[in-house]
Amino acid sequence: MDIEKLDKQYVRTITSGWRVTLPAPIRKAKGWETGTVVPARASRDWMLLYADTYEPNQYDHYLYLGAGGKIVIPREIRDETGWAIGERLSIKDEGDHVILSTCCERNRCRSCGTNRNVIEVIDNLFLCQDCWNRYLSQNR
Ligand SMILES: [Zn+2]
Repeated sequence: MDIEKLDKQYVRTITSGWRVTLPAPIRKAKGWETGTVVPARASRDWMLLYADTYEPNQYDHYLYLGAGGKIVIPREIRDETGWAIGERLSIKDEGDHVILSTCCERNRCRSCGTNRNVIEVIDNLFLCQDCWNRYLSQNR
């Protein structure tokens, strides 16, 4: 198991004012800075932020990136996703887009998917004890 290749998942909470802070490593990877307008789509319980705008008019929403990496979730997206203030969102970089979705599986092992004996081995990376032990024994 190569721990660097595991999907890195960030968890952020929707705060009052419907703000969510995009993690700095994702902003950096995408070249998003304060003032960047990020195209977005939303449905069910997820929202996608796109890293490029080569398909003008293909996006349903445009989000303004505020200071400190904060975005405000517009009313239409609140309605589409059913999100609530205080909701915890999983944020993942998936290449040409970033996905924000309700975070119900954060305590599952990112390697094998079990929810038994799961520990947070580094910030926001959850592994079960078996996978973590396997990783440690392979990297002595
Ligand atoms: Zn596991």
